[in-house]
Amino acid sequence: MRIKSRKTQIDVDDLVQSIQECPKGKKIKIQRHKRKALSNSIRSSSLKINQHTSIHFINIGVANRILSIDKSSKTVTCEPDVTIEELVDELLPYNLLPTVIPEFKCLTIGGILAGAGLESSSFHYGQFSDSLIEATYILSNGQIITCSPTKDSDLFYGALGSCGTFGLLIRAKLHVLEIPSNCFVRCNYHITNQPIEKFPSFINQEDYIDAIVFLKSTVIITGQRIDEVSIPKNERIQRFSRAWDPWYYQHVKQICNKNVICEYIPLKDYLFRYDRGAFWMGRYPINPLQDKVYYFPAFTRNFINLFPLGGYNIISRTILSPLFTTASLYRRLHSSSTKMISDTLLIQDIYIPISKSKEFLSFLQSGQLFTNDDEILEPIWLCPIRSNSTPQKMSPHYVETKANDQDDLFINFGMWTHQRRWQLGSSGGKNATKILERETKKLGGRKMLYSQSFYSREEWSTIYDMQWYKQMKNKWDPDYIWGDLYDKIVQH
Ligand SMILES: Cc1cc2nc3c(=O)[nH]c(=O)nc-3n(C[C@H](O)[C@H](O)[C@H](O)COP(=O)(O)OP(=O)(O)OC[C@H]3O[C@@H](n4cnc5c(N)ncnc54)[C@H](O)[C@@H]3O)c2cc1C
Repeated sequence: MRIKSRKTQIDVDDLVQSIQECPKGKKIKIQRHKRKALSNSIRSSSLKINQHTSIHFINIGVANRILSIDKSSKTVTCEPDVTIEELVDELLPYNLLPTVIPEFKCLTIGGILAGAGLESSSFHYGQFSDSLIEATYILSNGQIITCSPTKDSDLFYGALGSCGTFGLLIRAKLHVLEIPSNCFVRCNYHITNQPIEKFPSFINQEDYIDAIVFLKSTVIITGQRIDEVSIPKNERIQRFSRAWDPWYYQHVKQICNKNVICEYIPLKDYLFRYDRGAFWMGRYPINPLQDKVYYFPAFTRNFINLFPLGGYNIISRTILSPLFTTASLYRRLHSSSTKMISDTLLIQDIYIPISKSKEFLSFLQSGQLFTNDDEILEPIWLCPIRSNSTPQKMSPHYVETKANDQDDLFINFGMWTHQRRWQLGSSGGKNATKILERETKKLGGRKMLYSQSFYSREEWSTIYDMQWYKQMKNKWDPDYIWGDLYDKIVQH
């Protein structure tokens, strides 16, 4: 039964004309409509783009319509600028949900498909891109093409993870899940020192799995979707969406001391639990003094945090809450220079095969990323994700052939940190990123490409199948007007 059907909001004719008018030698850059948030990509090509003269901008306008929801076939069709929060809000009244819901509310369907998207249901469903059934693109010659696994399948799969270098996505049809009404997530917290070894034991019983590695221990968080009526009486409901609610990672950190092992979270609060504070990136601006008071004893630092705006506490997080949504934090990040970001921050998501993940975690915890003994990477986010051998060749979860069952899973390592010595001019974040890139390559992993990269062309071509990429470009974008992936991703 088709429950909803709406007119498209994109002006396709206008876009086709704009693409065809691209002057020879220029590259097209998709301008995102600024109604809600800026791009979540922090590569130099995504920042300060207005300064480039070799770019032909096209504006896709407000392309945020859900075009149809079909409950019987469990599918939804939408435009590319729909945010993941809008998609969830439209589907929930029908007890439907996307298979994978990347954690930040402001991510767009176009950006997640052309970039990458995972979350704690990814051990079941892989990336968000794995739920795509059909996609419509405008190509560089202005032709409109609808592709699927059975029609122009090379474009259908190849465009996923290619960062928009094959065409402009204007419509996507996605598979969705049926869920209980009034859905909650029953979360269990498992404190362990061996997260990688433990992940497989949860896989058959749970709907959600992720973990946060703290200095002293790791907390694996497993979740099951349940109907509100199955919540036992007097059980505590924990929320994360109100201004005064705790930031999720802080809440989990406290669980290490409190021994809470089970709690019930309203579904939407669970899905976007990491949005406020952007996992833990928000701790740097909420505590601007932390680089300065670093040398003070712990007692003094804790004392400073007691003052209302002295750091993360209930008063500061309530008053400042609107400034700490991921969308707000990105607005501030986009006002920084590329150099400022690469010098002062390490922001990377890296997929490592599960068989090598223990080694990778030990490497991260050994301090080899840093030059000084007092620098540490903490917390680290772990999220298991199912690999995929359909030819999404640029996606981080792609494997050509699976050698064994273990290759079925990758672990995504989310690493987002600033160290106090990483000031402008220090190259701190850049050096650490380069070390990470080498280790990732050694262990057969791949990065999500939203962030800064420093690969040489030679290194790049040992990781990605450049022969395939060139053939695809010759077929779908021979004049390279959508740009070259290496040039778009790598910091020059
Ligand atoms: C601190 C941090 C934590 C993160 N954590 C997670 C996480 O937990 N899970 C997760 O999944 N991701 C995570 N990400 C990454 C994020 O999901 C990706 O950056 C995502 O691709 C960005 O989505 P966006 O809507 O901002 O896309 P954009 O940045 O706007 O676009 C991404 C790419 O897609 C292209 N594109 C956009 N629209 C179209 C279109 N219509 N047609 C063709 N190409 C298009 C753009 O040109 C660009 O190359 C994290 C990022 C950061 C910085």
